[in-house]
Amino acid sequence: MGGRFLSMGECMVELSQAGAGLLRKGFAGDTLNTAWYARACLTKDWSVDYFTALGDDAMSDEMVAFFREAGIGTDLIRRIKAKAPGLYMISLKDGERSFSYWRENSAARQLAADPELLRTAIESADVVYFSGITLAILSRDDADTLLAEVRRAKASGKLVAFDPNIRPRLWSSYDVMHATITEGARASSLVLPSFDDEAAHFGDDSIEATIRRYRALGVPEIVVKNGADGVTLDFDGTQTFVPAERVEQVVDTTSAGDSFNGAFLARYLADRNAPEAARFAAKVAARVVSEHGALVAYDKLGI
Ligand code: ADP
Repeated sequence: MGGRFLSMGECMVELSQAGAGLLRKGFAGDTLNTAWYARACLTKDWSVDYFTALGDDAMSDEMVAFFREAGIGTDLIRRIKAKAPGLYMISLKDGERSFSYWRENSAARQLAADPELLRTAIESADVVYFSGITLAILSRDDADTLLAEVRRAKASGKLVAFDPNIRPRLWSSYDVMHATITEGARASSLVLPSFDDEAAHFGDDSIEATIRRYRALGVPEIVVKNGADGVTLDFDGTQTFVPAERVEQVVDTTSAGDSFNGAFLARYLADRNAPEAARFAAKVAARVVSEHGALVAYDKLGI
């Protein structure tokens, strides 16, 4: 039985080097990436919608057309006058990638500024997905509004999934980051943290410590990702380790975690078998790290 999967956050314009002073344009952002892989992996009786705010410029129009082309619903996207999407550029120096961002003033910063639309969107969904980046880009008031709505969704029995996706640079202070990400997790029924981020920013000395911390917040379903070292699941207190797939040559790890999340949730929604969903997601993520870019074409995912 299908339903509606709603992913909430910011998609940006991506500019990458295309040689001889040329730049290639794409679109990406953590929650959009997860929507992309969820769409690729969910059955057709599921719809996938992206919830964000965009501007009234040509780039916003292109982005909407890109989502639609990918089969991602855009009806809930708010368009704001005289605004534009955020942008980032990938630079390559001696084989190392670095990122420059222009997102402080993006339309998506106001994605929760219309509480009625936010409520309608969440009420219309069966599954809600958001991340620490979704929370980081909002004003304190709007983050509180969004958290109150996801809390409501969790209380009504919906699956609310959250990836803390910790990016200290997006936050005004460590204290605000810790407090808000902790509230995001508390408002969720399933969390998908990455162990290296959790260790670096919450001081967890083991995967077990990460699981204990989220369990203490009342999160019943926990998926701790640990790169090539696989994932540890804790579902209602039952722990399972699922190894990563072996990859011949890792080409680009951008969106490894986002693709894992989308594929995991898609498969988990089919029959609520978490270890099976993690094995499937590891296969999809292995394909994704074997290709360039955040969004690997659906027909290259081997699904
Ligand atoms: P994030 O990008 O959120 O930090 P991870 O690095 O933990 O997430 O990667 C998410 C998933 O992607 C892993 O659980 C694993 O399945 C897959 N993955 C990531 N890196 C590799 C790798 N080098 N080899 C095989 N699989 C990988």
